[in-house]
Amino acid sequence: MGLFDFFKGDNKSKKELTWEEKNTYKGDTPDCPNCGNPLTKRYVFSGMYCEDCQYGLEDDGDYESNESLSVYDAALIWQSNGKDEDYTFGYSEEELEDALN
Ligand SMILES: [Zn+2]
Repeated sequence: MGLFDFFKGDNKSKKELTWEEKNTYKGDTPDCPNCGNPLTKRYVFSGMYCEDCQYGLEDDGDYESNESLSVYDAALIWQSNGKDEDYTFGYSEEELEDALN
């Protein structure tokens, strides 16, 4: 974690990881079957996709929509944070509960 401590600065507690830090995927990814570039996996629960040829993003064809969480992903994060209301990502608790069931 030394490298991350370096970038965090002094204004944050060392123990309190942000959501971003806890969930950012840091492992390796396989190469894209289309163009051979390494695939991108943004978060530990995210699917992999290729930034060059959009492999893995075909389902909606809209790169921007990758920024928004599905209710299912949001529910998993919400649950892993003790169902904290700060992690509802705009969904209602009923929607999140339904996605977990
Ligand atoms: Zn590709």
